[in-house]
Amino acid sequence: MKICVFGAGYVGLVAAACFAESGNNVITVDVDQAKIEGLKQGIIPIYEPGLKELVIRNQSEGRLSFTTDIEAAVKASLISFIAVGTPPGEDGSADLQYVLAVGRSIGQHMQGYKIIVDKSTVPVGTADKVRAAVQAELDSRGVGFEFDVVSNPEFLKEGAAIDDFMKPDRVVIGTDNVRTAEIMKELYEPFMRKHNRMIIMDIRSAEMTKYAANAMLATRISFMNQIANLCERMNADVAAVREGIGSDSRIGYDFLFPGPGYGGSCFPKDVKALIRTADECGYEMLLLNAVEEVNELQKHVLARKVLDLLGDSGADKPLAGKTVACWGLSFKPRTDDMREAPSLTIIEELLANGAQVRAHDPEAIKEARKTFGDRISYSTNQYEILSGADALVIITDWSEYRNPDFERIMADLKEPLIVDGRNLYKPDRMQLAGFRYIPLGRNGSG
Ligand code: NAD
Repeated sequence: MKICVFGAGYVGLVAAACFAESGNNVITVDVDQAKIEGLKQGIIPIYEPGLKELVIRNQSEGRLSFTTDIEAAVKASLISFIAVGTPPGEDGSADLQYVLAVGRSIGQHMQGYKIIVDKSTVPVGTADKVRAAVQAELDSRGVGFEFDVVSNPEFLKEGAAIDDFMKPDRVVIGTDNVRTAEIMKELYEPFMRKHNRMIIMDIRSAEMTKYAANAMLATRISFMNQIANLCERMNADVAAVREGIGSDSRIGYDFLFPGPGYGGSCFPKDVKALIRTADECGYEMLLLNAVEEVNELQKHVLARKVLDLLGDSGADKPLAGKTVACWGLSFKPRTDDMREAPSLTIIEELLANGAQVRAHDPEAIKEARKTFGDRISYSTNQYEILSGADALVIITDWSEYRNPDFERIMADLKEPLIVDGRNLYKPDRMQLAGFRYIPLGRNGSG
């Protein structure tokens, strides 16, 4: 099939490369000239495992191309995917300016029937707005081409995006047209090897499905963070509690790890947008308001622990003279994405209290520099930042932190203090090794 994808970001680039990999001809369009020029030369603007190889292979085999020429891309394609950003506006609602700009561009250039597929995460009713934007352009051109607008929300996870796209748990297609549903099914058929779960529904339900999924996952995280905080106060072990509840098939084990709060480009903005959508129709999302509030508080938990353990409570800057080494900056492992990362809050709080901060991350240092500049120091060597530090704080669960050289950590740190926001190690072994080990919600563990 002939496809164009608007937006060469985390979603658009992965979708474009994966559609090309299954034999389609895909043109990726972006308004960012530098990004497109780089992609033409095989420079991938984001870090996502496996993406570079996939892009280069499909590009060299002639199925994947990159352009800023919107007109040519629209004319050459039957299906246009919209995969541009929908950042939160000032009131928390999704900002649709980029999505609607693409709709207008398609309306300006289409020369016949088109299927316009919204893959960006957008509030219920956006397909109607896209349809109106396209129609307004057609009217002003005085032409009457037919088109369909489809909602096809994306559920990939950064860090595992290629696998998620190639072997999705499900593909949701929202359409009111049987013929369009058949074309979309044909397009996604090659990706149905793991599960044959193509779920066709009406457009508004498809738009809502994406928000409901992310809101549910954010709810599990905030729930478990509160359970962990309570375990700490009651001398119970949250890891045992997770085993105990996860074994119930109605609950399951996933998304029940405590941590420093959820971040990233999706959960925070999608929870906010759903709260806002509900506001607009006079309904209050009581549960999601609490999920958000818990998450904001949770982002402060690690820095608070460092303050309690190392801070001079009488001082103006309680952590003055202390050096804190941080492992992990990105909001989760296997990505360079720093959007709404808990590390941003944690490090700002450490700095505000007078600490010197050194950070390691395998991929996100370039992104982190945009926020912290020279206010902290960086290294791509996880041990280099430990020398003489008063504590190590683990923020992101990159796999290289799971089984590190503990003897080296012990030798390098000034104090053998580890505050672990991801519960990576066994508390009893850490104590035996002589560490002062502070995980989340595990005071009661042996
Ligand atoms: P991103 O910021 O990484 O990429 C968006 C791209 O769109 C940018 O390259 C930008 O230059 C480009 N763009 C903006 N206006 C354009 C236009 N008029 N024409 C062509 N290109 C244009 O965004 P992302 O993380 O890929 O997210 C895209 C959408 O997918 C969002 O709605 C997001 O909520 C949703 N989503 C994201 C993820 C994720 O993990 N990142 C997962 C599922 C869904």
